Amino acid sequence: MTMTLSYHIASLAERQQYKSIPLLGAYFLIRSNVSLAPLTSFRVGGPAEWYVAPKKLDELQASFQFSHSEGLPITLLGSGSNLLVSDQGLPGLVISSRNLRHINFEKETGLLTVGAGGSLPRLAWKAARLGWQGLEWAVGIPGTVGGAVVMNAGAQGKCIADILVNAHVMLPNGQIEILSPPDLKYSYRYSQLQGKSIFVAQATFQLYPGANSALITAITTENFHKRRTSQPYHLPSCGSVFRNPGLKPAGWLIEQAGLKGYQIGKAKVAHLHANFILNCGGATANDIFRLISYVQEQVEKQCSLLLQPEVKIIGDFSGVGTL
Ligand SMILES: Cc1cc2nc3c(=O)[nH]c(=O)nc-3n(C[C@H](O)[C@H](O)[C@H](O)COP(=O)(O)OP(=O)(O)OC[C@H]3O[C@@H](n4cnc5c(N)ncnc54)[C@H](O)[C@@H]3O)c2cc1C
Repeated sequence: MTMTLSYHIASLAERQQYKSIPLLGAYFLIRSNVSLAPLTSFRVGGPAEWYVAPKKLDELQASFQFSHSEGLPITLLGSGSNLLVSDQGLPGLVISSRNLRHINFEKETGLLTVGAGGSLPRLAWKAARLGWQGLEWAVGIPGTVGGAVVMNAGAQGKCIADILVNAHVMLPNGQIEILSPPDLKYSYRYSQLQGKSIFVAQATFQLYPGANSALITAITTENFHKRRTSQPYHLPSCGSVFRNPGLKPAGWLIEQAGLKGYQIGKAKVAHLHANFILNCGGATANDIFRLISYVQEQVEKQCSLLLQPEVKIIGDFSGVGTL
């Protein structure tokens, strides 16, 4: 019976371009040629050569083993809200955290432990409803817990580094390590994990239970509305494209350079917030890349300041331009 079933899965896998990986007597599937556009907030980008969304740590471990045995490069994916993926797609294996979403509020200590794929805004709403203070600022950041830990996501003067107790990470050899904030060398939108094949599997945050849930929900709601009115959430974007360079925010500099509304193909500098580039429908990654490059060039010319992208630009953009 088991043999018939595994034969069935394997042959199905072959036809549909899956690889079924044996694991503790069961199988899990690694798919090939998976479009990444729906998995990023810009809604652009070509396919992943291989794609997997492990549900458990042993599947994550087996995914790393697969990439190692096949000699494949690895890309780690949260909700893709800070990524510009090439139209050519990505070679190798993309490992998504989307199915790792366990969550535990420990009332006695105020510790909140969440799987990497947990949604930051959903956590902020949930914490508010429970009367747990400490995540009200995160409600407008449409990323996962893993992505937030890696990016040191933040808003309104607060950031992940302020509340992180530790992160459980998996190294490419499958080993788990527990890292604390000093290990991550946090600074503005930076952690030591950026650009590495180290997977954040889970994070624990220190919050403060016992607050008035109506009050925390009201603050969270106000933050949510402030974001929705000051930033364009109605079209696909990656949030702020450039890091703020210092005293003047990147958006202000882009506005001074007269670039609000500037458009290349279907990619456009937002009127509401000039540090946002919007996919107005049918933009390509190349359109967005060219626009980022143009904005960078113009701001440098007019303000003598080279803006650095906050968005992670991944895959092949050779022939499109340079940043
Ligand atoms: C409308 C909008 C508003 C935004 N506002 C803000 C804001 O106010 N503040 C802010 O800081 N950001 C903001 N962002 C950007 C983005 O939401 C954050 O950077 C977020 O933390 C990215 O999380 P993600 O899960 O989408 O990560 P992804 O975009 O998928 O990945 C980002 C980086 O983290 C890595 N990564 C992701 N998950 C893991 C993991 N589990 N293990 C290891 N590496 C991983 C990726 O390889 C990549 O290098 C905004 C984005 C949008 C679209």
